[in-house]
Amino acid sequence: MGILKQGAAAAAIGLVAASSTPSAWAEFPEKPVTLVVPFSAGGPSDKIARDLAEALRKPLAQTVIVDNTAGAGGTIGAARVARAAPDGYTLLVHHIGISTAPALYKKLPYKTLEDFEYLGLINEAPSTLIGKPGLAAHHFADLRQWISANEGKVNIANAGVGSASHLCGLVLQASLQSKMTFVPYKGTAPAMTDLMGGQVDLMCEQATNAMPQIEARKVKLYGVTSKQRMTLPALAQAPTLAEVGLAGFEMTVWHGVYAPKGTPAPVLAKLNAAIRVALKDPELIQREEALGVRVVTDARLEPAEHEKYVESEMRRWAKIIKDSGETAD
Ligand code: ASP
Repeated sequence: MGILKQGAAAAAIGLVAASSTPSAWAEFPEKPVTLVVPFSAGGPSDKIARDLAEALRKPLAQTVIVDNTAGAGGTIGAARVARAAPDGYTLLVHHIGISTAPALYKKLPYKTLEDFEYLGLINEAPSTLIGKPGLAAHHFADLRQWISANEGKVNIANAGVGSASHLCGLVLQASLQSKMTFVPYKGTAPAMTDLMGGQVDLMCEQATNAMPQIEARKVKLYGVTSKQRMTLPALAQAPTLAEVGLAGFEMTVWHGVYAPKGTPAPVLAKLNAAIRVALKDPELIQREEALGVRVVTDARLEPAEHEKYVESEMRRWAKIIKDSGETAD
């Protein structure tokens, strides 16, 4: 950051600090609130953020806008929010990637545990392992054979280094002990288009986005990443990856909401309260459940517990990532 920019940021923080008495923020929010999604429009993170934005409108009595700042596995959008004015008007809706980027990126432009205020973990969703429509493999056992017979040549799409689809691909590769070629996109929405068109072979994708394509038979389903089989009709027949031989394979994609560090406490309290109201909205719950997403109702809705959870995920993934040997600039 240049000296001028640093000065401007310090001045912005100073302004916020100077007016951070509860009464100064009594009217918050007085203008639309923006939820930054660090992946492209039309994907699972985008969908979740749009549902949340809709449900937040009532408790915040304000317009809530979703803005996609995609690229580099979610790190560009996260960096944007880390550097935004800490006034509660620019928030980040990010997934598991916020906890994995520190172990992957050599030059991460923010610090996960230092540059954000935690506003609550909002949901958890399993992923699916899906393939392009023309794949000859009908079941996971055939797929496994095909991957090992084509070591290094099978293309698996993802939403960039550190994205949920990338992590799932890393674990899959380690479990199969067969290398694959990772193909990064700015989100799994464009990756899904290419998978359906046969330009890439495989992808791990949250049920949120995969289900409509599975139901329409536009992609092949090989398994789910949850511990137990899913009960949703489109997924009920799919085995868990652990069941078909990948012992211990389990992956849940969780999402949380973040504000820039230094956002005044009264604003954070209002936002957390509004998120809690939004997550009790029966329409939101129904929409999420229909797509296999479980809305969080436990202690992780509490900022301190959310932060502790992210910390524990950082430790868990740091080991998996170190063993994979994967890094990014
Ligand atoms: N599902 C994506 C991921 O793999 C991100 C997205 O586009 O929502 O991380």
